[in-house]
Amino acid sequence: MNAEIIAVGSELLLGQIVNSNAQFISEQLAEVGVNVYYHTSVGDNPVRLKHAIQVARERADLLIFTGGLGPTKDDLTKETIADALGTTLSMDEDALKSIKDYFLKVDREMTPNNEKQALILAGSEVLKNEHGMAPGMLLKRDTKAYMLLPGPPSEMRPMFSKYGKQAILSLMKKKEVIHSRVLRFFGIGEAQLETELEDLLDKQTNPTIAPLASDGEVTLRLTAKHESRETAMALLDSTEREILNIVGEYFYGYDQASIVEVGLRLLKEKSHTISCAESLTGGLFQAQLTSIPGASEVLNGGVICYQDEIKKKILSVKADTLKQYSSVSEQCALELADNVRELFSTDIGISFTGVAGPEPHGGHPAGTVWIGLSFKGRPTRAFQLNLGGGRNGNRLRTAKYGWYYLIKELS
Ligand code: ATP
Ligand code: MG
Repeated sequence: MNAEIIAVGSELLLGQIVNSNAQFISEQLAEVGVNVYYHTSVGDNPVRLKHAIQVARERADLLIFTGGLGPTKDDLTKETIADALGTTLSMDEDALKSIKDYFLKVDREMTPNNEKQALILAGSEVLKNEHGMAPGMLLKRDTKAYMLLPGPPSEMRPMFSKYGKQAILSLMKKKEVIHSRVLRFFGIGEAQLETELEDLLDKQTNPTIAPLASDGEVTLRLTAKHESRETAMALLDSTEREILNIVGEYFYGYDQASIVEVGLRLLKEKSHTISCAESLTGGLFQAQLTSIPGASEVLNGGVICYQDEIKKKILSVKADTLKQYSSVSEQCALELADNVRELFSTDIGISFTGVAGPEPHGGHPAGTVWIGLSFKGRPTRAFQLNLGGGRNGNRLRTAKYGWYYLIKELS
């Protein structure tokens, strides 16, 4: 089966919003083995929308529309599809009831145009909207299928995940189970990862292995197909083992879990507390940590020690260290990590010191960074990075490397 996603909305064409709906649906369809060959964006204009439908019908089995299911005059997706297919709209009593209930609940008067939201394409299957009013729907017509989803991602995503995907799976003739697993890597470039895994990537057909790089990370998506779920899982397990035998040292987690989430989970599992001394990252590491619920269980606090004076005064870095080696040094990173751990009485102290750039500093090129890691009862270690990015890229990657070394140490 192949699909085309048609996003309806003039705001997409005016550049006011990005078409994140197409991205989300494509990702979901890839997981179940539906090919997406085209993304179309079209304005709230019946003539051009009708044209887009005619074109898509020529080249796709499944047309998925998002947007234009709302109550206002410019919401005309259903009407235009009905017109293009020569069919009519009918009132869905259940949907109408939930809209009326909604207005009762919020104690607001329901204007007549809201009833329009309960109109569905005659003969279609309703996809319930549990986060808004307009229902989605799936219509089978001749050899094609048409799925209509609301525009707001907060409504569309749960509707698609809970009802839409299942409806598509039941359209598919072959009842293969498609199972995906994402392996996440850090500290290795995409090109190097591909080179290391070249033989495996070449010979691999089930599961397939698809690499993707972003923000200094590389992921491998493994997708296995089989009639039995157990066999699909076993295929994934064995390919995962082969991959980790080769590049396991860079592996940090599965699926959507970010490197920060994995780090926080490990800290919690081991009941370890942490404190941070941040120079070039200026609090970034702690901002990432505190963006996740539950950070308070592990983070005691930290110091943004941007100036040497603060490194000395608050974190007791020796004047000699700074004079002899400067702040961009292994010695400084070690002292910062030890002393911040001491100051905050935590199990772990982590430090970041270096040159974010764009200019060199004190004879050190931009991107020279030291990360210190002090663990209670273990020798304190420091890691050097030589990053080649811009100022903010260097700061972001420094914080990510902090997580990476921390995860390695914790596991
Ligand atoms: P509503 O009932 O809110 O009017 P609707 O189904 O009629 O929903 P639209 O009016 O087309 O949908 O869009 C509503 C909002 O949903 C947009 O302002 C935008 O914020 C978001 N949206 C619409 N289409 C997309 C898209 N393709 N990607 C991301 N967001 C979108
Ligand atoms: Mg609308």
